[in-house]
Amino acid sequence: MKIYNTLSKRKEEFVPLEEGKVKMYVCGPTVYNLIHIGNARPMIVFDTVRRYMEHKGYEVNFVSNFTDVDDKIIKKAIEEGVDAAVISERYIAECKKDMQAMNVKPATTHPKATEEICGMLDMIGTLIEKGHAYVGEDGTVYFKTRSFKEYGKLSHKNLDDLQGGNRSLLVTGEDQKQDPLDFVLWKPKKDGEPYWESPWCNGRPGWHIECSVMSKKYLGEEIDIHAGGEDLVFPHHENEIAQSEAANGKPFAKYWMHNAFLNIDNKKMSKSAGNFFTVRDISEKYDLQVLRFFMLSAHYRSPLNFSAELMEAASNGYDRIVTSVSNLNYLLENAASDTMSEDEKKLAEEAKGFVAKFDEAMDDDFNTADAIAAIFELVKFANINTNEASSKEFLKALKEEIIMLSDICGLIVEKKQEMLDSDIEALIEERQAARKAKNFQRADEIRNELLDKGIILEDTREGVKWKRA
Ligand code: AMP
Ligand code: ZN
Repeated sequence: MKIYNTLSKRKEEFVPLEEGKVKMYVCGPTVYNLIHIGNARPMIVFDTVRRYMEHKGYEVNFVSNFTDVDDKIIKKAIEEGVDAAVISERYIAECKKDMQAMNVKPATTHPKATEEICGMLDMIGTLIEKGHAYVGEDGTVYFKTRSFKEYGKLSHKNLDDLQGGNRSLLVTGEDQKQDPLDFVLWKPKKDGEPYWESPWCNGRPGWHIECSVMSKKYLGEEIDIHAGGEDLVFPHHENEIAQSEAANGKPFAKYWMHNAFLNIDNKKMSKSAGNFFTVRDISEKYDLQVLRFFMLSAHYRSPLNFSAELMEAASNGYDRIVTSVSNLNYLLENAASDTMSEDEKKLAEEAKGFVAKFDEAMDDDFNTADAIAAIFELVKFANINTNEASSKEFLKALKEEIIMLSDICGLIVEKKQEMLDSDIEALIEERQAARKAKNFQRADEIRNELLDKGIILEDTREGVKWKRA
């Protein structure tokens, strides 16, 4: 499996730090609003990376943070006259709803910045002790960028070029900086802002320190993959490397992955220009599976353009897979024979070629565009080579392959039919009768059949109750 590493600017063979395990950290959203479709791109892309790794047999420890203290959150809290935590908790809950609707798996851990302040104070303390940070007169703590010799290695920037570019960026209040390149680790509170006590001043953390700290706490000092959108390469990830490596004295992440940006109608997404969509906006018009399909139809390192036409194309593409699975299900219900014929055995072997093609595309830096093309080839193959005379075994093999590959992409392509209340109740009655007759095997079968369809049974004193999962 090859991964393009921003650090080396080339594709490298993936070799995990610990055999069979992947430690992965993805920078998450700042929670002051509903997430937009740009934020959805890294979520979908890196969830697919995780799913593929899991499919390959790795145990993936996936950490993604919520930045829940930040200027934009505080501004919104002041506007609404509520605590900053009210805003961040509200949008974390909304973000989780969107993630679920896009079939993005919850992270192993979703830490929040405000719950990790202790760790941040520790790391900042260590950086001061080691001479990588200093305290200004008002208690602001700065990272001493030039003390970290490898600064610039991720964004491939040269310190002196940066110095030239940054001189003009010095603004009032930053005159305590010893060098314009230094960045904030801790800053004093302003009126009305949330704050924490620290040895330097009552205040709050700078943005970059949270990821260094959470990554270390939940994954360890050295991790396999660190990821996010390409806008994070500089300064966010560059600063994370400086903080972590200066504090821990070890390399931070082995592979750095960055997704390219999503534009709208070939323009940068912007609220003021009126071309801005939240994931929730899109969900009013499309099944979010279509948005997921759309995101994966391009390679993650290519810029992606969002337009109504492209979403229509994605909708048709996604439907093609869903329809094929539904046709296979229909044929399965009516199949005349159980086992594969000799001809079908040959075809089933041929179909495995598409699975291999899918894997080959994914092994090449997660080329989901080619991987989806391989699913389409398999779908076409299934459509051409199946009919009323096909055996159950053959139909099932094709269906399972399509579902397996779609599932790696996080695409749900088998629509479970909703059961009618009357059918559920009829089955429950049959189960009660089976239990009375001490036919527990049948009773269990019915319970499992209902569970498969998302119906949960509860045996209570007042009788059997049921609910939809
Ligand atoms: P933010 O809340 O701005 O920190 O963004 C959360 C994640 O979304 C980061 O990984 C960003 O790089 C990513 N992101 C933001 N806007 C876009 C966009 N238009 N296209 C792709 N990724 C984006
Ligand atoms: Zn981060």
